[in-house]
Amino acid sequence: MTDISSAFSDTYAEAREKFIAAANEAQATITSYEQAEKGPNGERLFIDFATVGPDDAENAIIIVSGTHGVEAFCGAGIQVNILSNPDELAKYADTKIVFLHGHNPYGWAWLRRGNQDNIDLNRNYVDFSRRFGSNEAYSEVHKLMLPDDFDVSATNAIDSWVEEHGQAHFFTVALTGQRIDPNGIFYGGLEHAWATKTVSKALPTFVKNQKRVCLIDVHTGMGGYAGALILHAYEPGSTNSDRFNDWYEDKVTNEMEGVDTSEIEYDNSGAIATALDDLLPDHETLGVVIEYGVVDLRRTIDSLVADNWLHAKGDLGSDQAKAIKQENLDCLYGNTDDWKRKVWEHSSWMIESTAKGLRALCTKE
Ligand SMILES: [Zn+2]
Repeated sequence: MTDISSAFSDTYAEAREKFIAAANEAQATITSYEQAEKGPNGERLFIDFATVGPDDAENAIIIVSGTHGVEAFCGAGIQVNILSNPDELAKYADTKIVFLHGHNPYGWAWLRRGNQDNIDLNRNYVDFSRRFGSNEAYSEVHKLMLPDDFDVSATNAIDSWVEEHGQAHFFTVALTGQRIDPNGIFYGGLEHAWATKTVSKALPTFVKNQKRVCLIDVHTGMGGYAGALILHAYEPGSTNSDRFNDWYEDKVTNEMEGVDTSEIEYDNSGAIATALDDLLPDHETLGVVIEYGVVDLRRTIDSLVADNWLHAKGDLGSDQAKAIKQENLDCLYGNTDDWKRKVWEHSSWMIESTAKGLRALCTKE
């Protein structure tokens, strides 16, 4: 058993080693998929799955880390805290738990949000054979989001734009995702990324005997220091929305940084948590996102713009690059004992509440 903080890591390679060790200790079944690209130090990169729990369990919980690369330090620490703690695992003795470790291992190792092609995986789970959103309005801000140089005038320009057009409109055009500029931020891609294809194929094999599946995708970047935002895309009053309100004691939010999400127009779908009906058509599914905050959102957005600029137009070997990478990490990972403990306590409660909620659905039938 590991103490809470030491389940978290400082590099992708360290995190993977801890995950595999903890999964082996828990006698989990491990399945790994290696991607072609390597990390900045030549590290091999993998999407790893570990599964525990009875094969004939009626319910499954899938816990995802690293959909947004660098955000994985949080979710992976939570995963290792469960796998390495027999008392935690005992809470789920009747449930299949699937740990998806490093959804975007490239972005994680390189300390960035997107993958090797600058694709935001959480905009990529789209059925490209059907009509899909591209968010043409992104062209209003694409120059702001990818300036020629990244300096204080770049962030001032964003501030002025937000002041003029309002936060809700900024969220809509800049942050919901786009398929206009492959070098821009939150680019959703025009075809499925390697990770999307790999996960889409693998995931059903781990839950084939389960009736119900709840996927929890762990993110960081919103909610304030160690704050938690539980977000989902189900309509208010729908069965799954009511279930989440019930399970999570009405702590589900529809507000992000003072903006009511109903004011944000999502033209783009493509999040893994909203694609479950396509991924697992034979299951009853629920998908939810948990966001743990570190610093204020405005600073985080600047750091994402800076990092995106660095990969598109900057010099990865420069001192500025080091500073940008450190800032990205500081915005998306609260690397202190206090932050880790708070995040772990919340996620432990949330995952256990999920298992209880799913269990109650069995007995009702
Ligand atoms: Zn995220």
